[in-house]
Amino acid sequence: MASYNNAQLADQIPFNRYPPWVLSKLRPQAVDLIQRVYRWVETECIPAEQIMKAQVAENRWKTAPLMHELRKKAKAQGLWNIFLPNHFKESPGLTNLEYACCAEIMGQTYWAAQTMNCHAPETGNMELLAKYCTDAQKEKWLRPLMNGDFSSAYSMTEPDKATSDATNVSCRITRDGDDYVINGRKLYGNALWNEEMKLYILMGCSDPGNPDVWKRHTMLLVPSNSKGLTMRRNLTIMGYDHAPEGHGEYTYNNVRVPKENVILGEGRAFEIAQGRLGPGRIHHCMRLIGQCERAYELALLRCKDPRKQPRGKYIGQFDSNIERLATMRLEIDALRLVVLNAADTMDAKGNKAGRYVIAQSKILVPETAAKIVDTCMQMYAGQGLTQHTPLPEIWTYARFVRVADGPDAAHRHQVGRDQLKLHEATRKRHEAYADKARELRKIWDLETSDGELDWEYVPPVAPKL
Ligand SMILES: Cc1cc2nc3c(=O)[nH]c(=O)nc-3n(C[C@H](O)[C@H](O)[C@H](O)COP(=O)(O)OP(=O)(O)OC[C@H]3O[C@@H](n4cnc5c(N)ncnc54)[C@H](O)[C@@H]3O)c2cc1C
Repeated sequence: MASYNNAQLADQIPFNRYPPWVLSKLRPQAVDLIQRVYRWVETECIPAEQIMKAQVAENRWKTAPLMHELRKKAKAQGLWNIFLPNHFKESPGLTNLEYACCAEIMGQTYWAAQTMNCHAPETGNMELLAKYCTDAQKEKWLRPLMNGDFSSAYSMTEPDKATSDATNVSCRITRDGDDYVINGRKLYGNALWNEEMKLYILMGCSDPGNPDVWKRHTMLLVPSNSKGLTMRRNLTIMGYDHAPEGHGEYTYNNVRVPKENVILGEGRAFEIAQGRLGPGRIHHCMRLIGQCERAYELALLRCKDPRKQPRGKYIGQFDSNIERLATMRLEIDALRLVVLNAADTMDAKGNKAGRYVIAQSKILVPETAAKIVDTCMQMYAGQGLTQHTPLPEIWTYARFVRVADGPDAAHRHQVGRDQLKLHEATRKRHEAYADKARELRKIWDLETSDGELDWEYVPPVAPKL
């Protein structure tokens, strides 16, 4: 791995945010790309936020002309599809760690990732298609997605089941001749109302009687124009409709797709779902850290805004706000370390071995980010809760990442269960401490007159007598 020693560059944003171990792992081509992504977001995205808002307001369910233009431009500059991990043959070759650095920068503007075709759910969907689809399926669905010709959705969650445990997914898939027939209700998945939405990757139950619960489910490629597929309404997130992508609520009423649309094979949905989510979770977390940096900068600006001087002082002259700035800085930097460590672990050991560090990011980042943005809103007070700042939208993003890709309680549950597996080894070590302590007390003559040991504190495990 080539090391990165340009001291001058290391003093500049974004490189001055990375610890030395990260800088030493960034290859020269990645350093170049990170700089270009940074320039792109700084000059083409952040200043264009108001224009994008105005264009979407004019035509809510159509992709804004500015988005089309930026996507064309980003593609021409080679800032396109840079997310795909380097073990895919379609990948541009960044490691998870290198891409994580790019994702943070993209996160500064909510839609910047989309200008580079690096946005959710497309990234997860493209990874899925690249990893599990046949060449014919890739030609039909992956190639246009990578090209940015249309968009796709992931359709797993259901209103009538606890789908954070995906074994509960009940949308029914039945085989009928050369077709699969789908019936059920789904929540989420981008809005059908946007004419660019062409593909739903659907998880359904094809074999409910199978004694092996992990083999009951199947994934299908469902074209958006399939007869019987209806979008009932758009789901708002804390009041935001997230147009023009949105979040649809769907019914599948005898929707038919040809058998060639099965991904990997019947009963193999869990193999696919497990491969999909790791990198996507890291991307969300890094983008969220970018959003935190944005919120933090707004708070910093507010601290010395001459228009706002309660009791004749800048807001930043009050100790409470100085401490808030310090706490937020520490928290953002700590979150970044957690996610970069997760990305690096995935590079070194693979997604499966990275399960704990991915969960660690997924649990810690959205919750802390929401708290950080809440503090920024408080420093802005009245305006901070309104459209005068992007803070309410940023807070909503942090809040929804606590649920999207699995609620944090489910990740905590998994981490806690894994921790309990350490009980046996931990007990053995503590037994050994207690045995040794008993020996030492005998040597140092600390036994009581009746030969019993007089423990000041009771060992957590019983010593062998
Ligand atoms: C903005 C946004 C975008 C989304 N995009 C998509 C998308 O593109 N496609 C898609 O399919 N879904 C999407 N989702 C849905 C999301 O993935 C699900 O809501 C999530 O996985 C939880 O599933 P559920 O709603 O069925 O919750 P449930 O399974 O009903 O869980 C409810 C609650 O039960 C508790 N719980 C569950 N499991 C455990 C556990 N193991 N231990 C302790 N407590 C537990 C938790 O408190 C949890 O919040 C999106 C959600 C949001 C908010």
